[in-house]
Amino acid sequence: MNYDVIVIGAGPAGSSTALALARQGWKVAIVEKAAFPRRKVCGEFMSATNLALLDKFGLGDAWRTEAGPEVRRVGLFAGNRNIEARMPPAPGGGYGRALGRDLLDTLFLAAAREAGAEVFQPWHAVDIAGEGTAQAVRIATGEEERLLSAPVIVAAHGSWEQGKLPSQLQKTSRPSDLFGFKAHFSDAHLTADLMPLFIFPGGYGGMVWSDHGRLSISCCIRRDVLAAVRGSHGGLPAGEAVFRHIAASCRGVAEAIRDDVVADGGWLAAGPIRPGVRPGYADDIFRVGNLAGESHPLIAEGISMAIQSGWLLAAELSGVDLGARSARANAGRRYSAAWRRQFWLRIVAAESFARAAAFPGAARIAWPLVGAVPGLLTLGARLSGKTRTPAGLGVNERPEPY
Ligand SMILES: Cc1cc2nc3c(=O)[nH]c(=O)nc-3n(C[C@H](O)[C@H](O)[C@H](O)COP(=O)(O)OP(=O)(O)OC[C@H]3O[C@@H](n4cnc5c(N)ncnc54)[C@H](O)[C@@H]3O)c2cc1C
Repeated sequence: MNYDVIVIGAGPAGSSTALALARQGWKVAIVEKAAFPRRKVCGEFMSATNLALLDKFGLGDAWRTEAGPEVRRVGLFAGNRNIEARMPPAPGGGYGRALGRDLLDTLFLAAAREAGAEVFQPWHAVDIAGEGTAQAVRIATGEEERLLSAPVIVAAHGSWEQGKLPSQLQKTSRPSDLFGFKAHFSDAHLTADLMPLFIFPGGYGGMVWSDHGRLSISCCIRRDVLAAVRGSHGGLPAGEAVFRHIAASCRGVAEAIRDDVVADGGWLAAGPIRPGVRPGYADDIFRVGNLAGESHPLIAEGISMAIQSGWLLAAELSGVDLGARSARANAGRRYSAAWRRQFWLRIVAAESFARAAAFPGAARIAWPLVGAVPGLLTLGARLSGKTRTPAGLGVNERPEPY
């Protein structure tokens, strides 16, 4: 089965790439191993800087209708202290909101299918091999296998799972590795327009109201601390044990999710997560989303970067004859440069914030500073990309429709 491009993974990065390329007339195959809708470890907040892009993709109205309340304030909860500050609006106005990944990812993939992409789901990409001018991706579901072929391969399978694909990351096992956890709760006690970050011994997290009255709570915890926490809450599932550890040290979280609050679907876990900047093109494979580069979840910018990187890649590939490997390598260089211009600062900012949060006694040192100048939280939100629209999609720019 021959295509112009095969996209592996239908998270926001893969589906936005597939959608943009299908709208440009490319023959697109997209391969997703999970059946949708599926929940995912993610806080689910997305900045309003993406609205122009969502509108361009035809998904803006659905997002405005479905997502939770506007987040107009950012907070910091640690120990017994809660600090709040103004969230900066996106240029042109508007605030970020959260939409469950079960809904968001399903909307994006449906739009890609509608635009003409052929969707293989639930199919698992198990191998990528060179094949002359084209390349072959072997996909499998149950006992069945198929070979898809295309000159352009886009890896959008995220960065958290190991496997045999040349684009998958090598395993790590360090005490400082961070594991992600997430759950939804109904009837929680948190002000509607507030998104607090919280820090606790061994990690950090965030809470935000998502769609349909679901509070999304997500966090990252060090591997060594997770092991100790599980040991001291023997018999409890890992997510429950982590939640008790957080609630025991952070009053703001304990008050938002009291005993009367109802869990909606149980805790999910993923990881270790892999923050950092990676090549946008290597081994003749283009990479988008988390795989190209991942910010610490602390700044809640991963979905934005995923969607925007798909759009950036599609823009760089547009109108180029990619039959020859040298042409793909040139496009890869242009895409990687555009990616760094757009995302480098927020990855570095997130790394600094995460290091500060993980520092022993972080809360003790942070309070006098942030307590005296809550505007530092607003500045942090700016540095993390909350006011940076994708190039070509600013308030005074008129993006070409696909
Ligand atoms: C605790 C935590 C909280 C977070 N909170 C936020 C937040 O509030 N806001 C935000 O913007 N970001 C947040 N993030 C980051 C965000 O979740 C990621 O950056 C985002 O999901 C990356 O999107 P992606 O499309 O690159 O990858 P993914 O969303 O990981 O999607 C990859 C897809 O590929 C599929 N796949 C994997 N392997 C294969 C294969 N071999 N074959 C076929 N399919 C495959 C998977 O099933 C998946 O659907 C958070 C992350 C964590 C850990």
